[in-house]
Amino acid sequence: MTDTSADQNIEVLDLRRSEPLPFHRPSISDLEIAGVVDTLKSGWLTTGPKTQQFTEAFSEAVDAPAGLAVSSCTAGLHLGLLAAGVGPGDVVYTTPITFAASVQVILHTGARAVLVDVQADTLNIDPTALEAAIAQTPSSERPAAVIPVHFAGHPCDMGEILALAEHHGLAVIEDAAHALPASHQGHPTGSVRSSLVPHLTAFSFYATKNLAVGEGGMLTGAPEHIETSKVLSLHGMSRDAWKRYQGGSWVYDIQAEGFKYNFTDIGAAIGLGQLARLPELQARRLEIVNRYQAAFGDVSSFQTPTVRSDVETAWHLYVLRLELDTLTIDRAQFITELDRRMIATSVHFIPIHHHSHFGKTLDLEPGDLPVADGEFPRYFSLPLYPAMTDQDIDDVVDAVLDVAATHRR
Ligand SMILES: *Cc1c(COP(=O)(O)O)cnc(C)c1O
Repeated sequence: MTDTSADQNIEVLDLRRSEPLPFHRPSISDLEIAGVVDTLKSGWLTTGPKTQQFTEAFSEAVDAPAGLAVSSCTAGLHLGLLAAGVGPGDVVYTTPITFAASVQVILHTGARAVLVDVQADTLNIDPTALEAAIAQTPSSERPAAVIPVHFAGHPCDMGEILALAEHHGLAVIEDAAHALPASHQGHPTGSVRSSLVPHLTAFSFYATKNLAVGEGGMLTGAPEHIETSKVLSLHGMSRDAWKRYQGGSWVYDIQAEGFKYNFTDIGAAIGLGQLARLPELQARRLEIVNRYQAAFGDVSSFQTPTVRSDVETAWHLYVLRLELDTLTIDRAQFITELDRRMIATSVHFIPIHHHSHFGKTLDLEPGDLPVADGEFPRYFSLPLYPAMTDQDIDDVVDAVLDVAATHRR
């Protein structure tokens, strides 16, 4: 007698891919390569003419009055808080559904970070919960700033957030790491919408972002805030001294405790190429998204991403949510099953307060932010990048549908 029970446990997958599809691959063309070569031959490697050119072109593209290219979005957020005067004794509000950077920068300034729960549809900070958090702030502390994070590229409720900020005197430092290009009610993310409170925006050019340099970022805002940030971005150094003394260009003055957050001309050369190609790259992103939305929109096991009618989203991520009660497997097993079908995925994000350091520092536990904690077990991100081929997209769709069909309750 042959024992068939072992064979029955072996599920044979009909694998069409021979190579795993990575979660991300950058789209670098001859334009970026030629730009880097040109820079390498120019004799100017660090912050110089290309950085200036990139800063001007980028600021114009997002309708910002001024910009400062920096070494990362994290650096930009940190400088934005400092330029807005945030420091010890202050409270800065942000969201739990973000990368560590949005919270670390608050702690760098000596301020206290308060996490505000999110809205279920967009997973962005909830203005009503923000208002409640401001009201609950002890009178010994100053409500100083808010860092709205445009999760997956979908803009936050900026109208309500700016109104609250102006009413309570909060600076607004937008984390737009995902939100290039995006707009809310016709206002491009990166533009300045308040003259009453400091309003700055930080973008990321990290390798996986919509405009990919490898490392880098851009801070945009009003000229006076950008000028302060610029001084702090290079050791608190000001070169105005040499203008005053009419001396040689060797004269400078250190005016504050600053940092080393420079961007490089090599990065700017890549950035200029990526910026020129951004419309084409975004068009391809949208094609992929449309295919996913059409394929998953009517499947009862999935909740597809929301796009509100008053925004343009950057579609940095495609975040699919599982209707877990329709499935016999959980999110982790769903991801493993996709992995077996050679499709890489990721989870954006493990909520901030689930990390050991932040849980301790912020005195929060999983469960304290009900909407974020309720959504976390059911979301994950699918591959979404312009370098995907049509076949890659079909493979993702087929694999996701196959896992859901195979494990339907
Ligand atoms: C990537 C990311 C950052 C940090 O960007 P860096 O350029 O790597 O510093 C900040 N916030 C969010 C939401 C991000 O995804």
